[in-house]
Amino acid sequence: MKNQIYLRMCLLALVTCALTFWATLAVSYQTSLTRMETETLRQASIAAAGLEQTSDRPAYLTAIGKSDRSRVTWISADGEVLFDSNADPDQMENHIDRPEVQEALHAGEGGSTRTSATLGQQTYYAAILLSDGSVLRLSNATDIVTSDLYRAIPPLIMIAAAVLGLSMWFARRLTAHLIAPINALDLEQPLENDIYEEFSPLLGKIHTQNAQIEQQMALLRRRQIEFDAITANMSEGLVVLDDHLNILSVNAAAVSLLGAAQRAWTGENLAAFRRDPTLNERAHAAACGTKVSMELQNADGTHLQLYLNPVEVDEVPRGCVLLVLDVSARHVAERRRREFTANVSHELKTPLTSISGYAEMISLGLAKPADVKGFGEKIHKEAGRLLSLVDDIMKLSRLDESAASTLLFESVELYALCSESVERLRPMADGKQVTLSLEGAPVCFQGVRQMVSEAVFNLCENAIKYNREGGHVTVMANPAPTGGAQLTVSDTGIGIAPEEQERIFERFYRVDKSHSNTVGGTGLGLAIVKHICEIHSAALSVDSVCGQGSTFTIRFPS
Ligand code: ADP
Repeated sequence: MKNQIYLRMCLLALVTCALTFWATLAVSYQTSLTRMETETLRQASIAAAGLEQTSDRPAYLTAIGKSDRSRVTWISADGEVLFDSNADPDQMENHIDRPEVQEALHAGEGGSTRTSATLGQQTYYAAILLSDGSVLRLSNATDIVTSDLYRAIPPLIMIAAAVLGLSMWFARRLTAHLIAPINALDLEQPLENDIYEEFSPLLGKIHTQNAQIEQQMALLRRRQIEFDAITANMSEGLVVLDDHLNILSVNAAAVSLLGAAQRAWTGENLAAFRRDPTLNERAHAAACGTKVSMELQNADGTHLQLYLNPVEVDEVPRGCVLLVLDVSARHVAERRRREFTANVSHELKTPLTSISGYAEMISLGLAKPADVKGFGEKIHKEAGRLLSLVDDIMKLSRLDESAASTLLFESVELYALCSESVERLRPMADGKQVTLSLEGAPVCFQGVRQMVSEAVFNLCENAIKYNREGGHVTVMANPAPTGGAQLTVSDTGIGIAPEEQERIFERFYRVDKSHSNTVGGTGLGLAIVKHICEIHSAALSVDSVCGQGSTFTIRFPS
């Protein structure tokens, strides 16, 4: 803009100078011509006055013709040329029809400009009527004026150039002066500017638009904060991708679930975020408008479920949203369920096969009458084992099904619960000649009474089952050092080898299957205890020495 104004000003100055130059030349030419004509007429009048006085007119005229550059012609009243300083009068035609001669004959003096027939030059003629009726004519070629003018051109050009230079300098300064307030405009505070009035509508519009932009920016910022707050607190991973699979937004959960480095990923490609050709291929499909879901497994074994949904603007796919869910727990649960089902079938099959075998022998009459009683006892024993198994399986599946929100947590007094279990188990302990004692003090915590009772019973039952004759079982209920309640069941039984201690809490796991079968174990007792502890957020631990005994401890939170 600055340059344009400057150039236009320069152009204006140039045009002005050129016009002035030509106008000056024209005016000068005209003025010089008029002056030359006036001068010629004045000279003619003086010469005429002198001619009237002199007696030797031809000599006088010859003298004038020699002393002056002007051409002198004397014409008689009938137009005959009597004298001419530049030509032979005898050779010249009659001049009566010359305009200046006619004018002088009528008005006393006359003037005319034309090309001389005699000299062939543009000439001004001034004629004066003499008292004897003849006419004295003085003439000057107009090229005198033109040559004067030519002499004036170089200084005029210099003046024009100087004026032009000065104008350009002024134009530069003026442009800078005009532009300075525009350059200094404060567009943040448009109404505060003190500038040309013509800018007021523009500045008003900028002010309104600034306010609108500010409002929209505030809205966008608020939405961004809301979006960040929501996605940052999501346990699901969320990645927003554009149509080139560049990351527009990614939350912390997505970074950690997909195992990416903890850094800013915005603007980077999905391929760099997670190197997985299948994911990349599916994301491309999603970005082209197809809904896709897939599963991924991390190196650490975590299972992820990925949902890729296209994002469309005006029905044109513009990218996709990737939702990442950690479904490891579901996978583990499914695996456990599969294993559990297989184990249950296996465990149920063993006693059922025995029962079926014995029953078949009896029904076919293959059993001797003396053996029938023994077979009946075995069938009864296996049926009892089946019942215990079904009972434990049902307990476990009830625990699996129970959601924490539907359970009734109440104040449970642990010492009293232990006392009930101890009393219920005393006959069994007596039968195995195991001393059963209860120690500690009443202590309360929040729990599900029936479940806690089940856990206490199972631990005490195991302590008796896996004890030796004459052994001891000590049950202790005390306040836990860190708050809550602590249950300890110690025995002086067979103990558990260190490598087995982890596994005894698995479903259907038994250290010594035959011994467990003998004592009526199902392999589910400790799994039930563990499950109950998980529901109560209680810490379960075992401390055991082979051949010396075991101590099971549960710390219930308050
Ligand atoms: P079971 O019904 O066979 O007793 P549990 O789940 O209760 O199943 O126990 C799993 C295994 O842990 C048992 O088979 C046994 O070998 C071992 N065990 C449990 N409690 C004790 C204990 N107090 N002393 C020694 N071994 C034990």
